[in-house]
Formats: sequence, C-alpha cells, structure tokens
Amino acid sequence: MAYPRMRSGATIPQEKRMKFIFVTGGVLSGLGKGIASASIALLLKSCGLRVTSIKIDPYLNCDAGTMSPYQHGEVFVLDDGSEVDMDLGNYERFLGASLSGAHNLTTGTIYRKVIERERRGDYLGATVQIIPHITDQIKADIKAVAQANAADVVVVELGGTVGDIESMPFLEAVRQMRRELGASNCLFVHATLVPVVSVVGEPKTKPTQHSVKELRAIGIQPDLIVARSQQTLSEETRRKISLFCDVDLGAVLSAPDARTIYEVPLILESQGVTDWIAQRLQLGALSPQLQGWRSFVQQVLEPSDHLEIAIVGKYTSLADSYVSYEEALSHAGAALGAGVSIRWVEAETFEEQAINGVDGVIVPVGFGPRGSEGKIQAIRCAREKKVPYLGICYGFQLAVIEFARHVLGLKGANSTEFEPNPAHPVIDLLPEQRDVKQLGGSMRLGSHPVAVASGTRAHQLYQQAVIHERHRHRFEVNPDYVERLESAGLHFTGRSQDGRRMEIAEYGDHPFFMAAQFHPEFLSRPNQPRPLFTGLIGACLKLQSER
Ligand code: GLN
Repeated sequence: MAYPRMRSGATIPQEKRMKFIFVTGGVLSGLGKGIASASIALLLKSCGLRVTSIKIDPYLNCDAGTMSPYQHGEVFVLDDGSEVDMDLGNYERFLGASLSGAHNLTTGTIYRKVIERERRGDYLGATVQIIPHITDQIKADIKAVAQANAADVVVVELGGTVGDIESMPFLEAVRQMRRELGASNCLFVHATLVPVVSVVGEPKTKPTQHSVKELRAIGIQPDLIVARSQQTLSEETRRKISLFCDVDLGAVLSAPDARTIYEVPLILESQGVTDWIAQRLQLGALSPQLQGWRSFVQQVLEPSDHLEIAIVGKYTSLADSYVSYEEALSHAGAALGAGVSIRWVEAETFEEQAINGVDGVIVPVGFGPRGSEGKIQAIRCAREKKVPYLGICYGFQLAVIEFARHVLGLKGANSTEFEPNPAHPVIDLLPEQRDVKQLGGSMRLGSHPVAVASGTRAHQLYQQAVIHERHRHRFEVNPDYVERLESAGLHFTGRSQDGRRMEIAEYGDHPFFMAAQFHPEFLSRPNQPRPLFTGLIGACLKLQSER
C-alpha cells in the first residue's frame, strides 16, 4: 500500500512506516491533554493520512464502566459495547471515527492479560516482571491497534501526570518503542501548564521545566511542548521554555484558553504544528484540509440564535459527567445556526421554577433511585407546559413512568430499579439480566439496530427504517404495559427488530416530546449532528420564532 503523500516515494517496511506520537502530561491533570492529542490527530487526518488514537489510563479498573462519573467524568460507550474513558469521545468526535475498546488500555487490561498468560504457562521458566513482561504487553497492545487500523500515524495519549507511580510502566514501554522503532518514527509531545501568578502578572515556566526534568529522568526527551496558559505566550516565554527544556523554538506551542475545544486544532495549526511534525517524522509535505472544520467552528462561535436547554441531572456540579450531551447540543445547534447554553438543574432538589423560561428540557443518563422523583416532576412540567423534551435512557424510562402515573392513572407505576415490587412495574429488568452476578461490562451495551416505524416523527428525523445507536442499560419498558401506554397516546415508534424492546417513545400532542432507550449523544459529531438532537433544537427554534 502506497504511503499517502510521502514525497520521497521510498518503500519503507510496514512497521517502520508507522509513526507514533506519544502525548504525556506534566504539572497537573485536566490541562486539556486529550484535546491537544485529538487536535493533532485531526490535523494529520485532514492531510489525508490514516490516523488513529489510543488512550492509556493508568488506573487498575479494566474499563471505565464501573467508575462513578463523579470521580472520572462521563463513561463513554463505543459501538462494540466497550465502556471507556471520556477522552475516547473526543477522539471519535475529532476524527469522525468509530473506535473499539482496544483503543483504551488500562493498567487493569494489561495486567489481566499478563496474569492470564502466566497462568496458562506462556512464560514457563521465567520470573514474570514489570520489565519486560508488562512493558512488552503494553507495546504489543499499542502495535496491535496500529496494525489493525493500518494506521499511518497513531496518537497515543498517556493519562495521568508524569511522575505518578502508576504511569511508570507505560512511560517505560513508550521509551522502549522509540529505541526500537527509531527517532524518525516516534515523537514525544508534552502538555504542560504555564501559570500566571497574578501579583507579578508574569507567565511562569518553572513548572514546565520541572516536569520536563521528571520526564528526562525516565529517559524521555520531549520533542514538542504544548504549553497551556490563559493567554497566548510571548516569544520571550517560548524562548525560555525552548532553552531550558531543550526543545526547538518552533516546537514550543502556545495553547491559550480557547472559546470552544474545536478551535484548538486551528490554534495549533496557526503555529505551524503540522509542518513541524511532518518534517520531524519525515512525512513529506502535508497540507491540512480544514475548510469544513473552520466553518463548523465559525458556526459554533457566531450563532444567529440562542437557546437555553435545561439538563436535569444528578451530577450537575461536575459538568464532565455530561460532556457528550453538551457536545451533541453544540453540533446540532451549529447545524441550525443556534448557540445552545445549558442550565444545569439539580434533580434532587427540583422545583418547577428551576426550568422557568428554558427553551427545552433534557433528562439524561442515570442510575439508581436518587433524583428520580425530581426528574419525573421535570418531565411532567415539560409535557404539560408543552416545553420540548428529549429523554435519554434513564430519561426515556422516567418519561414512561411519568406518563403511566399521570396520564394512564396507574398509581404506583415505577421502575424495579428503584423499588423491588412496585404496584405497576412499567420499567423492569431485561430478562437476560436476571442472572447477572458480575456488574462490570454486563449491561446491554453498544450498537444495536432499531426499527423505526414510518409516518412517525422519529422516521421524519432519521429518514431511515433501521438505525444503529449505542446502548447502555439493564432495564427496559415492560412489554405488558405497551398496549395501555400506546392507547393513551405514548407511541413506541422505534423498537428492536424483533419488536420486543421499546427503543423510541413519542407523544404527539406536544411540540416535541421524544425519548430514546439508546444514547444518540455518543454518535454526534461536528458537521454530523444526531437526528434526535437536531429535532429538539429545531422544535425549540420553531417555538421561539412563533413567540
Ligand atoms: N439505570 C437505567 C438502566 O440501567 C438507565 C441507564 C442509563 O441511563 N444509561 O436501564
């Protein structure tokens, strides 16, 4: 296979041709290392290269599925049903790709494989150690993803901060990869913080110097530094970093606070990052094609209309819990010329006034009884006051409970997730979930087809008879109640192909009342918004123009 845009036209052996970009983080976490990595991946992809991404999480969990969004932000779900770190969501959104669980390595997945192999007897005779057995497994898993994707470039983001005990084996493994594959095939990017101490007002480079020192102690010299700061760094500050960290001046990039994450690739590109990487990795002349991306960013930054959507949730104090909703709303808004601001509404203390004046209401993902009654109240308000409503997964199940209680008059309608024996179990455990003992990775997960009935609002929005959306649930609409719910006006217009599972509900006597058992937010991308979100935004805009 010819190497795209490779100027020299030289034939290079397969493994040598693959380029690896390793992104580490210094100083502190939450700097936007994931966005910087995704931005670099996007820029290279926009040059016509095959680019893929890997996220390494040094925690012991085998996946993010069992972790609370309080601690770790949203759990992102992939087509193959893997429950992964939310950074994979950014990679999918920036690359417009669908990744698999293999793209998220954790200490847990690596150790599990090594221990399984040890038990099988694969290492017979050897003392199994971090170096070389764990590091070999890490390298093998990274290379396997590169091969499986026939990638020209693999961007590997190492979670955590350099210096953490947990990330040591991963840093050691990528250090070895540079030795094995050669410097022209591996590039180290270090993301750091350049704080401004307000008294002096001067950007401080010392934390960056220290974290580079830490990295060097492990044997890694960064090639490129992405320096996060409130404002654009002056040349003087960049020179200082270049000198003390021994990095080309042209490779000290300033990453000031952006107005939207989607602007970051453009900010990095304006400093010539693609050219610099192309030279360093001998990729030949590259020219990123960013027209579509630029116009999307323009739409996000300069909308002609404004909407406010309430998200009634439980983790609202930690916005990271609902990142994909924010992104899906911004993609749908941009497509329809609307800027969307979010009003975070705490479900547990919900009162009607909390959603006064909003254009639309979303009840998102959720687990357990806490906050469910507040959310049901919010749905009732939206339904009765004819405020556009989109319910997702938990928000779908609660919409069914609300409807059963207040329209059908089924007192005590509830989910068996909240009460073991409600008078009317309108939401009940999936039959195949009854014998599940192990909680990790055992929900109904990933992409499943949904048949959409023609002549419905769902069909109008999707324009397809069969759609594919991602799932993550243990409970579902109890089939015994479907007929009664439908006769009272709540129509199940999307179902599993065997007709047994309810997937989309819509209520006709309303400007927009739709809910889905699946999670459309996971498939929304810039310039490819998801129909249920554009439906919601479209309905809100229509009502606004009629006011
Ligand atoms: N708790 C519900 C279930 O397990 C909803 C899950 C969700 O919102 N992802 O079915």
